[in-house]
Amino acid sequence: MDRKRINDALDRHLEKSSPSGPRGLVGKGKDRLTAPSASSGKHPDRRDQPSASISKNEEESETDSEESDVSGSDGEDTSWISWFCNLRGNEFFCEVDEEYIQDDFNLCGLSSQVPYYDYALDLILDVESSHGDMFTEEQNELVESAAEMLYGLIHVRYILTSKGMAAMLDKYKSYDFGRCPRVYCSGQPCLPVGQNDIPRSSTVKIYCPKCEDIYYPRSKYAGNLDGAYFGTTFPHLFLMTYGHLKPQKVSQRYVPRVFGFKIHKP
Ligand SMILES: [Zn+2]
Repeated sequence: MDRKRINDALDRHLEKSSPSGPRGLVGKGKDRLTAPSASSGKHPDRRDQPSASISKNEEESETDSEESDVSGSDGEDTSWISWFCNLRGNEFFCEVDEEYIQDDFNLCGLSSQVPYYDYALDLILDVESSHGDMFTEEQNELVESAAEMLYGLIHVRYILTSKGMAAMLDKYKSYDFGRCPRVYCSGQPCLPVGQNDIPRSSTVKIYCPKCEDIYYPRSKYAGNLDGAYFGTTFPHLFLMTYGHLKPQKVSQRYVPRVFGFKIHKP
């Protein structure tokens, strides 16, 4: 699928080049996002559109009809962050405070991990760039996926702060991360977790506080997210912070039976 293709491209790029890519140019976030390269790249819902000359209005009307599950309008005042978090498959992300992103201290070390760092950051913060359209389509796609990666790496830090945790609490309360599929957990809401803190190691899983096990997310879109954007610490620190949310452990276990008899274990 497209996300995989982009990630492969990014992988190749990460392998062969230095962190700061060519000094090409990026237009303003939302404008650029309506460019054909962007729509053919990351957004599954938009990839079937004609590859050239899509006007903003056409795109918006199509967006309205195709993405009825997306809340909020796609108007001019939508920030990149809200837009990004409302994309299908990105439901696990909370919206990171722009103030948090604007503080360089919080981004320490990320510039060496993310290609096209400066452009990706400008894109996330909707910073107007004077450079216009000098990037090739492929470069635009790379900046797109770099912005996604950068947002993820900021996100994993943010959700460990008190503000970030509060944002995730809201999402938890509205079951945004899904429920435990285990019958004896009785629909216990889950939290996102990574199995690894290194990007591109594994996809995000959901952690059930009741049975204390992890599962694949139900949504295959969300299931493609990188686990490192949520991290190995988050759900556990979350439950330590909001101790009252930690459910009683259930001791009830499923017992396999044959004609009503328990199976003898050798
Ligand atoms: Zn469970």
